[in-house]
Amino acid sequence: MLGKVLVPTDFSEDAKKILLCLTRIPGMKEVVLQHVVDATHYSRHGWTHEPHIRNAKIQLMEEKELLENLGFAVTVAVDVITSGDIATAIIARAGNEDVSFIIMGSRGRGLIRGLLLGSVSSDVLRYGKTHLLLMRHDHAGEPEGAISDRFCSGLFQRVLYPTDFSEPAEYALSFIKNLEAPGEVHVLHVVTKGETREEVESNVLEATRKLEEMKRDLAGAGLSVKTHVRLGRPTDEIVSLAEGEGISLVLMSSHGKGFLKGLLVGSTTLGVAIHTNRPLMVIRPACCRRDADTR
Ligand code: ATP
Ligand code: MN
Repeated sequence: MLGKVLVPTDFSEDAKKILLCLTRIPGMKEVVLQHVVDATHYSRHGWTHEPHIRNAKIQLMEEKELLENLGFAVTVAVDVITSGDIATAIIARAGNEDVSFIIMGSRGRGLIRGLLLGSVSSDVLRYGKTHLLLMRHDHAGEPEGAISDRFCSGLFQRVLYPTDFSEPAEYALSFIKNLEAPGEVHVLHVVTKGETREEVESNVLEATRKLEEMKRDLAGAGLSVKTHVRLGRPTDEIVSLAEGEGISLVLMSSHGKGFLKGLLVGSTTLGVAIHTNRPLMVIRPACCRRDADTR
């Protein structure tokens, strides 16, 4: 399913954990490891970034060896930027290497407490054109420094798939059907509209019917499925259900019903990325690979 992936690393603790996690994600064969040296400003050594570059190359080679010993084909890249920003360099590398996925931590070194999504990750989510897996490790209950099994080998154990029944959401569903190590799939629709009680009830009934249909379809593909209909704001309900059901991965598309509006990423997906403490896989259908040149 994952094929060739780009793993940008800032050599932070989280990024290192991701490397070890990679080995437990089924279907991955080829890895591009990337470090971006930001030479747009003054470094510790003045205007020379050579020590940083040398150091990055050494570290990447070590990581390459580690992954090669585990059977992956690995290439490494140190990209030095003198203008622009790190996220742009990551997106460019993903394009050049033609990877299908970028896998990265949702936060790097810039550790502002309480912030669940760092600025680089946030920009890759907004402006990127490939699918994205945002890993998260240290959420409540995980011992400091531990590699959580739930988020590595158990990444696909309990997948939450929120759907607004749109075309992009349907596309994300096809990824779920192709999971190589399927566990339980929770399908959620949040009813957001209804001006009278009757209208709300009829929307709930309609959603229930559609979810049951989807359940039969997924069950046919050998998946074990639970359905949920909730009322409220999609982002809030997705985040709280992920928590309540012990979800190991939220899998959703970058856009939903509003994909024609031309947003870089839908507001629900962005909200979930900012507020959930679970790993998040964002599937970007062809319709929704917006041009980043609009920045
Ligand atoms: P926006 O709503 O900001 O105009 P959009 O509709 O294109 O933009 P999102 O609403 O973020 O984008 O949709 C992205 C994904 O969010 C959907 O594919 C789906 O997974 C989830 N989602 C959105 N609305 C709902 C909903 N009512 N119930 C469940 N999931 C939803
Ligand atoms: Mn929407």
